[in-house]
Amino acid sequence: MSTALTISQRAELGALLIARMATLEEEIAAQEGEGGRVAAAAELLDDSRDGGGQGEAERAVALQRASQAHGELERVRDALARLENPGFGLCSTCGEPIGMARLQAKPWTRHCVACERDMELGQSTPPRL
Ligand SMILES: [Zn+2]
Repeated sequence: MSTALTISQRAELGALLIARMATLEEEIAAQEGEGGRVAAAAELLDDSRDGGGQGEAERAVALQRASQAHGELERVRDALARLENPGFGLCSTCGEPIGMARLQAKPWTRHCVACERDMELGQSTPPRL
């Protein structure tokens, strides 16, 4: 069975994914700490008539950032789980190699540039899984 990547390329991508995972975990921990502080500040502001709405908005932004980081962490973990799979590095839509440069930039991607562009334009059929 042919594979898209050499062992050393897989090792490189694995290292990138592990580093990204560590960064995301730190970010999430920092954001959750920040979100907690903002929530506490918003509660204090409830007593005053000014600024309560602003605290609520800041809290919503912090929560949104945290949920984006959680989503990316899921993709990174998923990619690490797939890394030993022979299909890793092949587009899950067309089966062509995704390309090392693209994988280095986005190791968790499942699609080649062409298929991702098609999906963004809404022109391709959804992948059959
Ligand atoms: Zn493709």
